[in-house]
Order: sequence, then structure tokens, then C-alpha cells
Amino acid sequence: MKYDYEKVEVPAEGQPIEVIDEDADELDIPETPIVPIIHGDGIGKDVGPAAQKVLTAAAQATGHDIAWMRVYAGESGREHYDENLPDDTVNAIDEFRVAIKGPLTTPVGAGFRSLNVALRQTLDFYANVRPTYYLDGVPSPMKAPEEMDMVTFRENTEDVYAGIEWEEGTEDVERVREFVEEEMGFDETMHDGPIGIGIKPITEFGSKRLVRKAIDYALEHDRDKVTLVHKGNIMKFTEGQFGEWGMEVADEEYPDDEVFAAPDSLWETQDEVDIPEDAVMVEERLADAMLQWMQLRTDEFDVLAMPNLNGDYLSDAAGAQIGGLGIAPGANFGDARVLAEPVHGSAPKRAGQDMANPTAMILSGRLMFDYMGWDDAADLVRDAVEETISSGKVTYDLERQLEGAEKLGTTEYAEEIVTKIEDLS
Ligand code: NAD
Repeated sequence: MKYDYEKVEVPAEGQPIEVIDEDADELDIPETPIVPIIHGDGIGKDVGPAAQKVLTAAAQATGHDIAWMRVYAGESGREHYDENLPDDTVNAIDEFRVAIKGPLTTPVGAGFRSLNVALRQTLDFYANVRPTYYLDGVPSPMKAPEEMDMVTFRENTEDVYAGIEWEEGTEDVERVREFVEEEMGFDETMHDGPIGIGIKPITEFGSKRLVRKAIDYALEHDRDKVTLVHKGNIMKFTEGQFGEWGMEVADEEYPDDEVFAAPDSLWETQDEVDIPEDAVMVEERLADAMLQWMQLRTDEFDVLAMPNLNGDYLSDAAGAQIGGLGIAPGANFGDARVLAEPVHGSAPKRAGQDMANPTAMILSGRLMFDYMGWDDAADLVRDAVEETISSGKVTYDLERQLEGAEKLGTTEYAEEIVTKIEDLS
């Protein structure tokens, strides 16, 4: 064991997941892996246990099992340890490599870093990954929501989210202004008076490892295309550079018949380009146009790789097209490690009422299974969720949008999915 745990027990019936090759994302998954789980704050208390039940059923129905290791953060962290993010929790997620968490409330007040951001940074989960696909029966604002089947890879560590910024009225912000104006010669575009300044770092290391992850995912999952989405026409040396480094990865690190870097894809139509059969095409698109195309030409997109801010906006917009927050799953990928988590937050108003929709957390678990190579369990989860929803048995958020649907509580809905898992296996 890498760590001593102060207040949580490592389940005796499970085995740790071992790393075979960190750079190649290769893990050795034992028969009954130990998987840390944080149920989460607010509705996490409802959706966490519900998801755990469904995921256990799917694992067992496909010849596996899971030794869950309950760990604590946020409110439960404060209850057990008097800390928001105890070392036991961070250590367990580090040591056991594959973990899942529910939403955590960011405490309001100066000096509180988002717990989610802290976890991602401490363990270097540098890619936020969201598969966005339509589930039969889910109400959507789109005419053809089933055309959406995309996976977004959002860079998770840099860009304007790096937190390098200065508040108006401080001595520091004035020093930075002075440096930019006087030493760097940018005075003409800065108005006089109070100012806030932030820095947007985009590194070769950060960009390339994100794009590499997206390309490797596309190759492993038989996807046709990786689209690098940026705003390089305006922010040439940050966003534009992300695109250039990304295309370099595609061009230099993979054989052409496996990965094809489409030349000049930002400005020219690719209709004429001769793409090797079966190769993953890597192209660039501008972020503003992309938000439009995602709605107008939904079926043309496959895997998307983006800097942090674009990824934030775009993945939420994509999620809305297929039915919104209650069903949108996600995961944070690092090297040979994954932390699955639903996209939604802790929705405090609905907390503890056994009414929230656990689908997003259940489907985040599906992504975790996929990462572990448990394809059969992953498929079973998706099929059982889809059958339950299309039979009209749903939680309140979907019920109010679906004529003739039956409203179930969180627990009942999860039990319904477990029954479907048993029927399907
Ligand atoms: P939220 O996602 O909690 O809620 C937004 C809306 O969606 C609410 O109307 C809510 O009722 C609804 N909703 C969300 N999930 C639902 C579900 N599973 N079933 C049914 N309805 C659902 O976003 P918010 O209100 O902006 O944030 C609340 C708290 O969550 C904040 O403290 C925020 O920091 C935190 N948060 C955490 C995460 C995370 O842990 N990854 C993500 C986002 C927000």
C-alpha cells in the first residue's frame, strides 16, 4: 500500500488496480478492483448511492465486481475530518487510479478554491472528457438530437483558468499594467482608470498532451475525426498556437495511414482532400463557427479537443442539445488515471429529497467502465438506462417535459434500471 489511511478502510475483498505503462494509459484491472467513491454534496447524497447500486449490478451481471471504498470530501469531509478535502481522499484516488465522485459544493467565501479544481490540479487530471450522445426518449430542444454523438476533450489545467490574474485597485495590477504598457508597448489599447488583468498561458506541453489523449481515444474507439477547436484567428499566439501544436502531434507522432493531419483545414473545405481509408482525420475549426455548426451540422463532428475556456462553453452547449444537465456524464483523465463525475453540480434546492436524476452519475460510471476495458458492463449500463427512460419511467426533471411519463424518485428509478440490467443480462 502506497499510503496509510487515517479514517477510511481499504476494502479487504478488493485488489488495487496496478499501472502497467503510465504513458500508454495501460492498467492492470483485477477481478474485484478497489474503486474509491465520493457520493458528494447536496443531491450527491441521493444520486451517489443510486449510481453505486446500478454500477454494482452492471459489473456483477457481466462477471466482474467492485470493492467500493467510500471516501469523503466537501460536507462529508468536514463531518469526518473537519476538512473539505482530506488527505485520505486525495491519496485513495491517487493510489487506486480509477474513482468516481458526485458533485461537490464550492464553499462561498474568500479564499475557497473549488474542491473540484483542487482535486483535478493535485492529481493532474488534465483532460475533462464528456461524451455527448442522445438517449432514446429524452426530451430535447433539437429536431434531430440523435445526430449528436460527440466526445469533447477540454484541457483542464491552463488557459485563463490558470488563476493568474490581478484584482482592480491593487498595487500588483498597477505593476502589471505598467510593465505591459511601458516595457511591452501595449499602451494604446488599455483605457485609463481601474483595470483587472488576467493571463492566458497555453503551453506546448499542455496542448500536446491533451490533443494526444483525444487522438488516442479516437483511435481506440473507432472514431473518424478529431476537431481542434480554437479562436486562433484572434488570439494567434495562444489559441492559434494550440491549433498548431495539435496539428504537429497529428502530423509527427502518428503514421499517416493511422492519423491524417488535414492541411489548411481552418480555411479551406476538406471535400477534395484524399484521406487514407480508416485513418482518423485531424482538423481545425474556429470556436465561434463551431458553436453554430454543432447545431446545424451535428452529425459531422466526432471527437473535439479544445483549450479550457472553449471547452467549458462548448461542452455545456453540446450537453443542452441532448437533454441537459441531469443526464450529462463526464470524467477527468490523467495518465493512467480517471476520476468520473457528472457534469451537474450539487443542486442544493433538490438535495436529500430522493428526487434528483442519477442518470448523469450512472453514465459517468459507464465512462469509468469503458476506461477499465469493461465494455460489456458499459454497454449494459447504457442499454438499461435507455430502456428505462424510453419506457417513460423517469425522474421529475424529465417527467415534467414528457407527456404521459411516470415520475419516480431517485431510488425507485435506480431500482428500475437494476431490474432492466437483470432482464438484459
Ligand atoms: P447545478 O448543476 O447544481 O444546478 C443547476 C440546475 O440544474 C438546477 O436547477 C438543478 O436543480 C438542476 N439539476 C442539476 N443536476 C440535476 C439532477 N441530477 N437532477 C435534476 N436536476 C438537476 O448548478 P449550480 O446551481 O450552478 O451549482 C450548485 C453547486 O454545485 C455550487 O456550489 C457549484 O459550485 C457546485 N458545482 C459542482 C460541480 C462539480 O462538483 N463538478 C459542478 C458544477 C457546480
